[in-house]
Amino acid sequence: MTTRPAPRPTDDSAVYWDAVARHELVAQRCNACGKLRHPPRPMCPQCHSLEWHEQRLAGTGTLYSYAVLHHPRSPLFDFPVLAALVDLDEGVRVMTNLVAVEAAGIRIGMRLTVGFEATSDGGTVPVFRPALHRDAPA
Ligand code: ZN
Repeated sequence: MTTRPAPRPTDDSAVYWDAVARHELVAQRCNACGKLRHPPRPMCPQCHSLEWHEQRLAGTGTLYSYAVLHHPRSPLFDFPVLAALVDLDEGVRVMTNLVAVEAAGIRIGMRLTVGFEATSDGGTVPVFRPALHRDAPA
């Protein structure tokens, strides 16, 4: 039984966390210039437009970087925590946790796929695990 608490979305990040609750990943795509962006924010960093729409993401990507966290210990998390930056195939980077892999088995550039885990208080968080097959886009 996990003790991990749910994230606390802001007005800006609610679009992301509402999708995660549905077991989906989304990012914002600018209606004016088409740039995809993450983390969520009101204004396009490319063209400053305030108009955007949600784009559903496949949930596949590659490991950009990671850290094996041992401290500070919190009773709410299982240690070590594998914190990761994942480059999604659509071109945005997400901060997440790695699961189903030992620290010694982690490799920069490894293929990953999203999964969703329940939190102790009824929320959901996205996590990434090694992909079973090489599924890099052509
Ligand atoms: Zn734009």
